[in-house]
Amino acid sequence: MLALTKPRPKPSHIWDKGLNLKEKKEPQIQKPDEVKIEVLASGICGTDLGIYNSKESVKKEMAHAQIDPVTIGHEFGGKINQAGDSALEDLGRMLIEKHWITETEKRSLGLNNGKVTKKANLLKFLSQNFLVSAEMHLTCQHCRQCITGQKHACPYTRIKGIHQDGAFAKYVIVPISNLVLFRKDELPIEIIAFMDAIGNAMHTVQEGGVLGNNVAVLGCGVQGLLATAVARVSGASKIFVTGASNPLVRESQKRMNKKFLLARKLGADFCFDVSFKSDRLKFLEQVKKETKGVGIDCVLEMSGNYQAYHDAFEVIRNGGKMALLGLPAGETKIDFSNQIIFRGITIQGIIGRKVFSSWETMTALLKSGLAKKLLDLGFVTHQLDLKNYVKGFKAMQAGEAIKVLLRP
Ligand SMILES: [Zn+2]
Ligand SMILES: [Zn+2]
Repeated sequence: MLALTKPRPKPSHIWDKGLNLKEKKEPQIQKPDEVKIEVLASGICGTDLGIYNSKESVKKEMAHAQIDPVTIGHEFGGKINQAGDSALEDLGRMLIEKHWITETEKRSLGLNNGKVTKKANLLKFLSQNFLVSAEMHLTCQHCRQCITGQKHACPYTRIKGIHQDGAFAKYVIVPISNLVLFRKDELPIEIIAFMDAIGNAMHTVQEGGVLGNNVAVLGCGVQGLLATAVARVSGASKIFVTGASNPLVRESQKRMNKKFLLARKLGADFCFDVSFKSDRLKFLEQVKKETKGVGIDCVLEMSGNYQAYHDAFEVIRNGGKMALLGLPAGETKIDFSNQIIFRGITIQGIIGRKVFSSWETMTALLKSGLAKKLLDLGFVTHQLDLKNYVKGFKAMQAGEAIKVLLRP
């Protein structure tokens, strides 16, 4: 099968830019708890763009890859192709527990007391009637974090598409414990394909606590837009969005304005291009005016830009909460006493998705209209054949694309 790969970097060597579309052996199920999935569509994430550009931060991560070269890609949707014995039993149980099959179907699929007697029938039924995605952060299941509901913070996390083969290929293998199953009519594949990314925004909104609160979303890329959309349907009061164009490039401002237009349609009340001093001041004034001088209850930092951190401290109210998803490079200065402690501010780092509460809540929100809204507003700007991946990565690089999907 064709797979989009990157060689594992060697620490002191140059890591060539770009990716390689390679003929790779189709993966086979090795363990009884594994599921083999036929990928129907996968999304290009900012991290993938970092891999494409051989960024230093991802180089460090990918140096720990367990294979070489690695098939990248970690946002995807597909359908079940094969399953190991215990995985298939779990799938059978899932169908029964979720009341997704009738008594007659139960018999015809050979599901009896947790045993599967007609494997081929069940596999065919699953492949025809269900779509799947997966949590691609594989965690150890045993550490303190894993057993206390913080799998997203497991120190032994291995990510498929970074450390192990991922989803930019015809097939991908995941353990059943990480599989997320949808009835075919629940959500379209174009949405399932990037729920990993929507889940990051969901997790940020969950931790930020937006219900009835005034919210600032800092950053207006894919994650900023998704956080805006999720915060809106999660009951935020006023939503302020900031983005930063390149003030010297007219085209960049035009693109920023286009993103602001989309942000407004997704639920933003005010948008500011903070690369302009005057607009940044307007942002600060508007917050003051709308919150009657109190400040923002909840800041969602999605940009990974230290300038945005300064804005965050500027607008947040005493006792407010900041949830940080964006990844800044390097360091910055923070006055802990005056910026955080005396003001009683809570700062929360966001990594991955809460397993599986982010998935559950996001699924509910998507099904209640958010999925349709995203698709109707053209959030998925590109759908390309895997072979044309360069076009997709270049469109992202140039800032022309919002979400790019690749079809193997
Ligand atoms: Zn990602
Ligand atoms: Zn763990």
